[in-house]
Amino acid sequence: MTTDLSITIKPSEEKNEQIISSKIQESLKSKGISSKEKITPVFLKKSIDARHGQIKVILKYKVYINETPNGDGESLPVWKEASGEKKVLIIGSGPAGLYAAFRLLEDGIKPVIVERGSCTTDRKNDIKSLENDGKLNSNSNYCFGEGGAGTFSDGKLYTRSNKRGDIGKIYRIFVEFGAPHNILTDAHPHIGTDRLPEIISGMREKIISLGGEFYFDTICTDLLIEKNPETSKLKAKGVKVKGLKTGKESSIEADAVILATGHSASDIYKMLAKISPQTLEAKTFAVGVRVEHPRELIDAIQFHGKSMPQAAEYRLTAQEDERGVYSFCMCPGGYVVPCATSENQIVINGMSASGRNSRWSNAAIVVETRPEDIPQEYADKAKEDGCEALAGLYWRTWLEEKTLQHGNGQFAPAQRLVDFLAHKKSDSLPESSYKPGLVSSRLDEWLPKQVSDRLQKGFADFDKNMHGFVCKEALLIASETRTSTPVRIRRNKETLECEGIDGLFPAGEGSGYSGGIGSSAMDGEKVASSISARLLK
Ligand SMILES: Cc1cc2nc3c(=O)[nH]c(=O)nc-3n(C[C@H](O)[C@H](O)[C@H](O)COP(=O)(O)OP(=O)(O)OC[C@H]3O[C@@H](n4cnc5c(N)ncnc54)[C@H](O)[C@@H]3O)c2cc1C
Repeated sequence: MTTDLSITIKPSEEKNEQIISSKIQESLKSKGISSKEKITPVFLKKSIDARHGQIKVILKYKVYINETPNGDGESLPVWKEASGEKKVLIIGSGPAGLYAAFRLLEDGIKPVIVERGSCTTDRKNDIKSLENDGKLNSNSNYCFGEGGAGTFSDGKLYTRSNKRGDIGKIYRIFVEFGAPHNILTDAHPHIGTDRLPEIISGMREKIISLGGEFYFDTICTDLLIEKNPETSKLKAKGVKVKGLKTGKESSIEADAVILATGHSASDIYKMLAKISPQTLEAKTFAVGVRVEHPRELIDAIQFHGKSMPQAAEYRLTAQEDERGVYSFCMCPGGYVVPCATSENQIVINGMSASGRNSRWSNAAIVVETRPEDIPQEYADKAKEDGCEALAGLYWRTWLEEKTLQHGNGQFAPAQRLVDFLAHKKSDSLPESSYKPGLVSSRLDEWLPKQVSDRLQKGFADFDKNMHGFVCKEALLIASETRTSTPVRIRRNKETLECEGIDGLFPAGEGSGYSGGIGSSAMDGEKVASSISARLLK
């Protein structure tokens, strides 16, 4: 027999086995389980509750009573050498692409991964040059390259979409390639940008050792389409993909194609719109700014002035004029980073190292943006181009370019939060973790009014819940536009195949069915499973 239980202890008691053991006994007693039984507690999860002025550590266990733990759910999948008889092309080596490759290898199917960006080693140099000299490589940067957008990130793995797959399996595979063991038990696990690149290259080496192939610095420029013989028209329903093109002359063929290109690949959405506009649909996304505070200030608010070994997290939400305003991708002890994928834009995001020990803590603060919120001119332009679903993408691009106009190269426009609320220019800006540099700018004046007004109200509400959040040291940096995709690629609910393009399987964040590392990895697995079932029938 087994039972799950939680015990609550003080942070100072975390290493005290005696206290923990007696709390477990107490909890079992309250469940009517006698102390005479042979019990084996297996630690499952740790979380911290810092609400109500007291810090509590909550430990969750599965307790085996007169039974030996069976290790269920702890094993790794078995990967087979790929025979090469069946081959699946994967466009994009982000979490969705990599985990799709691993899932295919469970069935001995050969994954061939095509990635526009460089391998982690070269990508590190491209990022260094972007941060130090403001030089952007539009194909190898924070969003594009081996491991996808998550390689240089906080590596937060927490996801609320647990039911969409086996998140434990995703974590165990990360651990196999070098992630710390505690990601299996922390309630909010994270890996850190200092550890991720090596983990990702380890994954690549394993996939290659099993017969998979990688092509870096290789852009999918188009799909190789077999015209439907019945219609012989490309734009008609029922076109079939048989591979991809990587330039005018070169192409690769395969039994199926997984499209795991993330949500920064605007060119991919435009390509799909040309092939089959009905495969795309507009979806709600969010845009806003990143707010950065001194870490000590956030820690003091969240831990009520008490000292804790880790940097504090926060999560804030408000409802303003019928739209959500919320914090996203909070990076305790982190850095604000330049995430543009084209020279004429500024896009920002956040990351942390495993120790989460920088002097700052930051988070995106974004405003929900529904398809009906997109200004008419972008809807008109999308209609003119033959695919109305692209309106949100056009507007996002406009905002990223407008941000650049108010910045200077990759120097991002910024304003103190108190000045944003007071509608005045900041005479000086506080020190920031954002390496390229900042330009003082009236964000309150040029951010779209629908965003700016709601941010104003949202910040005022946040300060009521987290007193001290609005302060002179708090800095806003623009613009945060890539929290999720504005476009969904429609796919069949059962087969996960693209509606309108046979043989193409959209996966991960770019497809609009996942968000974040964990859920995109699960989505990649799910799509690969479906392909596998079809190919091995
Ligand atoms: C700085 C930063 C920090 C983040 N922090 C976190 C975090 O802490 N936790 C979290 O859960 N999420 C975080 N995210 C988001 C997370 O990285 C993404 O949700 C996740 O990576 C999506 O996975 P994906 O595989 O679907 O797509 P992506 O990771 O975006 O991968 C897509 C890949 O496709 C490639 N590609 C695109 N177009 C083409 C083409 N035409 N041809 C060939 N290749 C192509 C790209 O180069 C890219 O490598 C962060 C993102 C950024 C940018």
